[in-house]
Amino acid sequence: MALDFSFSPEHESVRETVRRFCQDEVAPLVRQAEETETFPRELFRKWGDMGLIGARYPQDVGGSGMDKVADCIIREEMSAVCQGFASSWSAHSHLGIWPIWKGGTAAQQERYFRPAIAGRKIAAFGLSEPDGGSNVRALKTRATKVPGGWQLNGSKLYISNAPIADFVLVAARTRPELTIDAISLFIVETKSPGFEVSKLDKESIRSSETGLIHIDNVFVPDDGLLGEREGTYPLILESLSENRVGVAANSLGMARAALEASVAYAGERIVANKRIGDYQAIAHRLADMAADIEATRWLVYYGAWCVDRGTLTSDLAAKVKLVASEAAVRASEAAIRIFGGAGIMREYPVGRIHRDALLYVIGEGTSDIQRNLIARGLGFKA
Ligand SMILES: Cc1cc2nc3c(=O)[nH]c(=O)nc-3n(C[C@H](O)[C@H](O)[C@H](O)COP(=O)(O)OP(=O)(O)OC[C@H]3O[C@@H](n4cnc5c(N)ncnc54)[C@H](O)[C@@H]3O)c2cc1C
Repeated sequence: MALDFSFSPEHESVRETVRRFCQDEVAPLVRQAEETETFPRELFRKWGDMGLIGARYPQDVGGSGMDKVADCIIREEMSAVCQGFASSWSAHSHLGIWPIWKGGTAAQQERYFRPAIAGRKIAAFGLSEPDGGSNVRALKTRATKVPGGWQLNGSKLYISNAPIADFVLVAARTRPELTIDAISLFIVETKSPGFEVSKLDKESIRSSETGLIHIDNVFVPDDGLLGEREGTYPLILESLSENRVGVAANSLGMARAALEASVAYAGERIVANKRIGDYQAIAHRLADMAADIEATRWLVYYGAWCVDRGTLTSDLAAKVKLVASEAAVRASEAAIRIFGGAGIMREYPVGRIHRDALLYVIGEGTSDIQRNLIARGLGFKA
């Protein structure tokens, strides 16, 4: 089979549309949203109307029928403007609804998935817990069978969109055994009695709202159990693998924005009668960023291409995410150094990009956890 390193005209058109939309309609919202740590909810409606939430989902479930490559293009363009918004998009468009698309009943798709891709309901995904971030298997949230449904108790920490969500996919243990078969997903409506969210203060992605969830005797009817079956842990793992490629595209967007801002600044800032970009120290830094980002770009889109062909492995997903997220941290730190004092002023975006880039060396599994997955692929027990 021939190698083809080009995007299709449809992909290019998606990129152009999203780029224009982000520049014209999203960029003006960023500063206020970041300062007030408030997500502008009307964005979900706009994304839904433009078909951006459902881009990678088939048309028969209300999606746009595109592919993971298109999804990654959308992420890259969104993150180049504001990672806070892009993180909320990711938690909603993938984490909160992909499992419903993949494993939900027709009724669950009708009630939650379709309104979510239309941007009319906001979704979140609750896996991490105070004692179980990296170690998912340790999760303690319990679901106990009661007549007509389940009673949930526990807590979830660092949950994106929780303060604004209409429903949260909550991972809970349906049996006390510490086996993966006993972990299931429940679709929990946030207005359910006993379900309480406290908004968290953050340094990174300030415009994405993140919460701590207390789940105190929350009743979930039988039809709230995802797919009406227990043991959906493999679905969670598959979803996380695909989303690691997704957040790698987000990281690529941030890295690219850091480079673009740096090139512009290095071309206009004069020190001792010279553009700073003409000092070799700065020029080499820019060259390293450009090379790093080029390598990241092709790895990310290779990962997306594998998703579309059904050949993504957890090992490859971990490599894509590790490389891209670390590249974004390096690029945004280099940008701050290039800017000098201006790099940590709010007038310029690079300080924010660096704070935001740190998110993805943590979220969706830290870089150490990605290294563990990769090492396992090499035959070690990390
Ligand atoms: C802004 C934000 C949004 C988030 N959104 C969501 C969300 O929507 N839904 C959700 O479910 N979760 C979400 N998370 C949680 C995220 O997935 C976890 O923070 C992440 O998995 C790390 O868990 P932890 O914070 O408990 O760190 P810990 O597990 O406490 O890890 C602490 C340190 O120990 C290291 N470590 C731990 N175990 C190992 C090991 N086995 N090998 C090597 N090193 C190890 C880690 O790499 C890290 O350096 C979000 C987090 C943040 C910060």
